[in-house]
Amino acid sequence: MTKTVAIIGQGLTGITAGLMLAQHRYGHKNGERHDILLIGAKPRLIGGLQLAPNGLEALRAIGLYDAALDSGVRLDNIVITAMSDGRALAEIPHPQNRIYIGIGRSDLYQAIEAKLGRQKNVERIESPALSITRANDKMELVLEDGQTLYVDEIIGADGVNGLCRSFVCGAQLTAKAAPYYAMRCDIEANALPRLFSRTQTQLILGDGCHFVSYPMAGQRRINMVFCASSEQLGPEWQAQLLAPHPILKYVADASPHWVKLPLFSNGLPASWRRMHVTLIGDAAHIMPPHLAQGAGQSFVDIAYLKAQLQEEALSDALRSMAIMRASQLKSTTSKASLTGQVMRLSGLPGQLRDSLLGLSGTHLLENWLADVWHAKH
Ligand SMILES: Cc1cc2nc3c(=O)[nH]c(=O)nc-3n(C[C@H](O)[C@H](O)[C@H](O)COP(=O)(O)OP(=O)(O)OC[C@H]3O[C@@H](n4cnc5c(N)ncnc54)[C@H](O)[C@@H]3O)c2cc1C
Repeated sequence: MTKTVAIIGQGLTGITAGLMLAQHRYGHKNGERHDILLIGAKPRLIGGLQLAPNGLEALRAIGLYDAALDSGVRLDNIVITAMSDGRALAEIPHPQNRIYIGIGRSDLYQAIEAKLGRQKNVERIESPALSITRANDKMELVLEDGQTLYVDEIIGADGVNGLCRSFVCGAQLTAKAAPYYAMRCDIEANALPRLFSRTQTQLILGDGCHFVSYPMAGQRRINMVFCASSEQLGPEWQAQLLAPHPILKYVADASPHWVKLPLFSNGLPASWRRMHVTLIGDAAHIMPPHLAQGAGQSFVDIAYLKAQLQEEALSDALRSMAIMRASQLKSTTSKASLTGQVMRLSGLPGQLRDSLLGLSGTHLLENWLADVWHAKH
């Protein structure tokens, strides 16, 4: 029996889910096959991702581990310093048996697309989806170009503010609801001091703000993220917050093109599935980026679904994934939110945070991250 599955959203989650389903059309013991419709424009991706052991293990389960390692830069440690005076606060080393990488989003996307292009049961439709309704035992999907599609299942990989999230749980988020923002850019390494090309994550903790950087693309490009409140990110934010710092002034001097991204704090909807529409990736879990887990957790969703497909037909496997992953993710989402709150401390609480990290930061953080990085699928 062939089931038609529409995946809405061609971001990293959408195309990875599409590849997994296309490759595993004979996976279920009843011989169910899947025809995949990937709906939406291809994204223009900038910047990078850090992938921790759990995300990489999920990619291994999906068959993308080698491709990720080939395109990524293996990172040796996370080095945490204070923005106020540059002093070292803590270091989290990644031992030989714990692989942690920095990877360009577009590099990973291309590696997945190369495999997707070899699948015959995938059709890519660039037009965005406009509406979803139930039509007897099918789901009716109307696209912006006027097409109407009738499909057995819809997988909503259309991000935090997509159509599927509002269909499943009525949620609508707006940039106004975001009190904090991430400024992201991607700079050529040769425009910066060599410090930025080191195979490490630099985390610089400031007063109500923080900065993260790591190399990607064979250390030729550097991903940078600066997180701060909307008040701090006024028109002169680079001159005020980066230029006084002995290292970050080089970033301001390079005049990068920053993209401003709202950071939402409300994470998990109560349900990930309604009728035959199932959320996955950011559409299901808005993960504050402070533990670098969002995309990694999307890959865990997909690996979990793949494992379920060995036991169950697609509808049941999607239902199981929605229930189990929503429950598994509660603790990681709370930890990511709490980490963000600690990173945003300012004044005396910020100084206390830095002192505590200086005293036992490595031990504290290793414990904090141990279960997050542990592969659970
Ligand atoms: C500052 C920052 C740093 C981060 N760092 C990390 C990190 O280091 N490691 C990590 O693992 N994660 C990180 N993340 C999280 C990661 O970026 C996301 O989890 C990941 O990109 C989610 O991918 P997605 O495909 O689920 O959603 P998206 O990337 O949002 O893709 C959704 C896609 O759906 C499309 N779409 C929307 N509506 C429709 C429609 N109606 N029809 C068709 N298509 C539609 C959109 O155009 C888009 O292409 C970070 C996030 C931020 C903000």
